[in-house]
Amino acid sequence: MRIANLAGRAVVIVGEAGAEHAIDVATASNNRFGPDLPSIYNNWTEFRSWAAGITHTHPAATPVQRASLDAPSPSPRQVFAIGLNYSDHASESGFEAPSQLPPVFTKYVSSFSGPDTDVVIPTHGNVDWEIELVAIIGREGFRIAEQDAWDHVAGLTVGQDISERVSQLRGPAPQFGLGKSFPGFSPQGPWLVTPDEFADPDDLELGCRIDGEQVQKGRTRDLIFPVSKLIAALSETVTLYPGDVIFTGTPAGVGAGRTPKRFLQPGETLDSWIEGIGEMQQRFIADLTAK
Ligand code: ZN
Repeated sequence: MRIANLAGRAVVIVGEAGAEHAIDVATASNNRFGPDLPSIYNNWTEFRSWAAGITHTHPAATPVQRASLDAPSPSPRQVFAIGLNYSDHASESGFEAPSQLPPVFTKYVSSFSGPDTDVVIPTHGNVDWEIELVAIIGREGFRIAEQDAWDHVAGLTVGQDISERVSQLRGPAPQFGLGKSFPGFSPQGPWLVTPDEFADPDDLELGCRIDGEQVQKGRTRDLIFPVSKLIAALSETVTLYPGDVIFTGTPAGVGAGRTPKRFLQPGETLDSWIEGIGEMQQRFIADLTAK
């Protein structure tokens, strides 16, 4: 099942790629569920059993306007992002592959957006790309066992952990939260796909292209800490809540890892994809308001 945030309302997505239609959850359920996504994550199990009866022949399905899609979990209580979680990316960043839990940081919710957007490049910023599988929590848990972890996942979506490297690396020690949280730096979408839709939710191809040139391509089977291990490890410390968002880390090919380094320029377009989920597109523009 695919679930999306269409102009703030929860919808079930039906139909083939390029011809997706949306069924409004609140309308179709006579207001039992919805109208928004956060309320659905809080009733995830009941919602899933109800939604199993929705089919592509549902009469209320309307064509999806992609410009109206927003982040599948628009107001999570917690956002986790994981650094150095693919060995090839750890290596290009100058680090050993972590044997214990990789670095955990956050991206602030104010940087969230839907899948197709324009992103302003901060003045004097070195803006980099990081394609990432994003997992969204569907069931609260603390100290979740690794073998139970997927039962706590509502679904998977495509994310970009867009990163401004100057503010990330200046100062007495690197800081990640602010440099990765400029407006529009956390696009996600186009929809949430439930884990049962994948032959193997732990082995998905992901990648991105700049103006058609492929710059990243990897597989999530190469995650050092896959989704289940991350959930077990994070929930050793914190309670995970429905709607919480986990950016799981990026494979090799970021701009800062290249010789010479390369960063996004005004006018460039970044296309990101994950197998079995879908695509996103960011267009980068100059900051015309800068002094
Ligand atoms: Zn990242």
